[in-house]
Amino acid sequence: MAEHQLLSGKLLREYNTILAMVEIYCKAHHHNKLPECQECQEFLEYAHTRLDRCPYGQIKPTCNKCPVHCYKPHMKAKAREIMVFSGPKMLLPHPIMAIRHLFSERTPVPETVPVEFSNRHIRKNRKNHA
Ligand SMILES: [Zn+2]
Repeated sequence: MAEHQLLSGKLLREYNTILAMVEIYCKAHHHNKLPECQECQEFLEYAHTRLDRCPYGQIKPTCNKCPVHCYKPHMKAKAREIMVFSGPKMLLPHPIMAIRHLFSERTPVPETVPVEFSNRHIRKNRKNHA
């Protein structure tokens, strides 16, 4: 099972959006393709882990509005670089993804961080009760 299949719903959609942005960025900057580009592949795996562990789970706000700073500084810098570069280029190849992302930026940030609500927690709890 591919690792990204651990995600579902909103988290999976967000992962796919990041994946599409990394592909655009990598092609332009590294003249490479995933998963051959080790640097970008590492970034994607990191982003995947952060999504899996995001305490907001399926009610996750967009990352630029999130009060929890879960990315390491250099990964955060890379994420910003990728989004600034690829964000505006998403509309043509991936119009639905781009529009959905704009709408989800308008979702309010939940007032409290939920407990045991991350994708990872839910997956582990489900396993324990099976
Ligand atoms: Zn790359």
